[in-house]
Amino acid sequence: MGKKRKRQTAENGNLTRFHEAVAKGNGSTAVELLESLHSERKVTPTQLTSALSALGRESKDDSKLSWKGALSLADKAVEMVNGGRSVLGEPGFTALVKITALAGIEENDSSYADKVRALISEMRQRKITIKKRTYASLVSILCGLKLTEQVKNVITEASNDKVELDEESYSCIVAYLTDNETEESVWEVLDKFRHQNRTVSEQMAESGSALDRFFSKHGTETMVVKRIRKDGTCPHCQIKLDSVDLTKEQIDQMISQVEDYFFVSEEQKLALQGLATWLKDLDSNLDCVIDGANVGFFMQRPDLGGVLSFAQIQLAVDACRANDFKHVVVFLHEKRAIGPEVDKLRESCRVYLTPRRMNDDWFWLYAALLPLRQGSKAFVLSNDQMRDHVFRSLTESAFLRWRERHLIEYSISKVNKFRLQIPSVYSRDVQKSRSNERFWHFPIREGENESSSTSWLCCAAPLK
Ligand SMILES: [Zn+2]
Repeated sequence: MGKKRKRQTAENGNLTRFHEAVAKGNGSTAVELLESLHSERKVTPTQLTSALSALGRESKDDSKLSWKGALSLADKAVEMVNGGRSVLGEPGFTALVKITALAGIEENDSSYADKVRALISEMRQRKITIKKRTYASLVSILCGLKLTEQVKNVITEASNDKVELDEESYSCIVAYLTDNETEESVWEVLDKFRHQNRTVSEQMAESGSALDRFFSKHGTETMVVKRIRKDGTCPHCQIKLDSVDLTKEQIDQMISQVEDYFFVSEEQKLALQGLATWLKDLDSNLDCVIDGANVGFFMQRPDLGGVLSFAQIQLAVDACRANDFKHVVVFLHEKRAIGPEVDKLRESCRVYLTPRRMNDDWFWLYAALLPLRQGSKAFVLSNDQMRDHVFRSLTESAFLRWRERHLIEYSISKVNKFRLQIPSVYSRDVQKSRSNERFWHFPIREGENESSSTSWLCCAAPLK
């Protein structure tokens, strides 16, 4: 075996061990191995990021390493790479933020909070997307070190970075303020939580959770109820739940996001203008928008040669009329709207043809949002849950709230009976009672799916 070959084998061995250490979350070993890789050749930004993430994940139960020790290892690793921190992306920075925050909590030293902030502002300067998880570490050090004023400001700070805090961060803030601050400060946090979140996890609804402790401390025992009555009444406290719609700001934000994100080219902007003018010229606001392609292709399998069924679209229009919708518009792609069938459809409702080479979803979404600005309600009829990347570019909390209140799903039976599933009279959404602002209800989700469960956490006293 030649010298060169031998060296390569040793390098490969180190590299393999490095990847193993990373996979096991053994950060200190990973950094050690990074050093030997460093002496052999350049360490790559990806390897640096992996080592930092492993350090951040390193379990302190079976590690002799302190977080302060982990932080100095992290700094050492960063120095091994040309350019240092400048090669890092979000995962690397977030790992550094996490390690710094944990070291600060361990050392009980508030200067680490400044270090965390310095890292976050470096992310801002480098135009790196700051994430919920980045902020989660900031929240944990602020609460851990009892930096009360900063805890109170962190939600606003995150919003300025367009970050909505995760539930764990909210929970941490509520727990901290419950123990250390006025009741008022927690109500303010809950109000912010309610605008960004529509449900709570099972952990957050458990007895002993931050929520439970706050309400109990101020005289309201919390209670899990399995189901809300059809008319929206909570069986425990008898309070009637509301239909929670978007705020004016959320409506404006969603509309401008649709305008800015979807209609980019000159041609697209012109098409949008065309739609806006068309909507303005209608004698009244539309109240139901039908996603023509979704209804027309329902059960048709276009991939197997199925064709758009105008009969199904007609059934949908009739079902909307039967449910008292007066201003129904079907959106259809221009390429599908040829022949006498469109003319026939036009006899019973309005039809808007969307231009070629553009996604018809953008158009019906815009048409359904615009009436909200004038305070009138417009629904979309579609079985599309809008999980598409297109919709993911919209602010999640507002989009999900809109979808829950405005999306009508449907089914078609074997005998062509068209059934609408109109949203219930109350929202499955965090609710503050109008009659008593200290009484709240939180829908509980199971796992990730928002609508997987029917249970609620009732934080209200039963009527006597
Ligand atoms: Zn209740």
